[in-house]
Amino acid sequence: MVNVNTYAKVRDMIEARRLAAVGEADRRNAEVRLASPEIARIDDELSKTGLHLFRAALAGEDINPIRERNQALCRERENLLVSLGYPRDYTDVHYTCKKCNDTGFTETEMCSCMRKAIITENIKASGIGDLIEKQSFDNFNLESYRKDGEETYRRMNTVFLRAKTFAENFGKMHGNLLFVGPTGTGKTHLSTAVAKCVIDAGYSVIYDSTQNIISTFEDDKFHSGFGEAANESRKYLECDLLILDDLGTEYATPFAVSCLYNLLNTRHNKGLSTVISTNLSANELTKRYEDRIYSRIVGSDYLLLPFAGHDHRLSLS
Ligand SMILES: [Zn+2]
Repeated sequence: MVNVNTYAKVRDMIEARRLAAVGEADRRNAEVRLASPEIARIDDELSKTGLHLFRAALAGEDINPIRERNQALCRERENLLVSLGYPRDYTDVHYTCKKCNDTGFTETEMCSCMRKAIITENIKASGIGDLIEKQSFDNFNLESYRKDGEETYRRMNTVFLRAKTFAENFGKMHGNLLFVGPTGTGKTHLSTAVAKCVIDAGYSVIYDSTQNIISTFEDDKFHSGFGEAANESRKYLECDLLILDDLGTEYATPFAVSCLYNLLNTRHNKGLSTVISTNLSANELTKRYEDRIYSRIVGSDYLLLPFAGHDHRLSLS
């Protein structure tokens, strides 16, 4: 499953690449025909090959002589190009991707060039930026939690494994995560690692602070007219995975609360996954949010992962 907008954008980009390659070949063909009347004559004859083959096949004649003549003409054309100082393949179409000739698909599957472009596009749209290259499951330093005692280490080991399992099985099973814990205990690192893993599998991910998300909904509701501009917030409702960062730091207005509820509820109804991270404890969450939000989050919907440890940002080597 790939986000429709991303897919359309990448497909159009690859198609534009293909048209540019064909256009450039057309231009070069016109150029060499002008430079050499011989090449122009050969091209005229080659353009009739299809018709000749068709007629011969229809009449039940041997088509091999036509094929041989055709090959001889192509060789002659190449030699003429070289004698004029052009590269042998000057008038060929030079596609960016030789595997799919800039169509985005091989005979059996989506081409790797298209997969890569979708991933790049999803990283750009995710809002994570440079962090995505720096924070992964591979470089999460679990050992550093031993300093805070065996219990902390064991707890973080479980948190790490559960987050990794969630990310690696994304799309195969539905689920949501709730990262709870003090600042600096690795919530951002593991959120980014989840995002990277899910994006690499071809899914669209948005990573944003709760305050930003609410402000976007607010802008759409109060400040924009109808039409395109009013749809900035749709990405939060539609992305395959939403990572809602820093729940509890937003201004707790009635609008914010109903906005949060609608967001979580809509995603739940669509079967889309959400990862929430917060510095608030379960108790503080209850106090801050209405029952309907609290029960949605801490109810059976979300797997609670309690982070622990000292502030790891202060001891990064
Ligand atoms: Zn390709």
